Amino acid sequence: MPGEPQDDCLFCKIVEGHVPATIVRETETTVAFRDINPQAPTHVLVIPRAHYENAAALAAAEPDLAADVLREAKAVADEDKLDSYRVVFNTGPGAGQTVFHVHAHVLGGRGLQWPPG
Ligand code: C5P
Repeated sequence: MPGEPQDDCLFCKIVEGHVPATIVRETETTVAFRDINPQAPTHVLVIPRAHYENAAALAAAEPDLAADVLREAKAVADEDKLDSYRVVFNTGPGAGQTVFHVHAHVLGGRGLQWPPG
């Protein structure tokens, strides 16, 4: 079933509380936690509780849930008092995606270059 938890998914295990994470926000539909390998003073991952492989799959199946993730990205930025920040969905291995449970990286707290590497 689309959105069902996957046994081999690290982020599903974080949602279920079976893998530890520094959780900063939780809603009925999303979890936000600090990245274990932060690339900026604020580096938080926002994930839907439901399992979708990437942002495109999430938006196609549950657009309201995709909107929840984006709203939570803003809430994270607000909590860390970021005026400017970046929201990134790496999509596919060639773009650096290593965990195939959709996640928004929320990055801020330092100057960010464009284009990213
Ligand atoms: O976009 P990508 O799939 O590469 O991002 C995965 C992110 O998940 C990485 O930034 C990595 O540091 C983070 N991660 C984490 N906690 C884990 C495993 C990975 O925050 N237990």
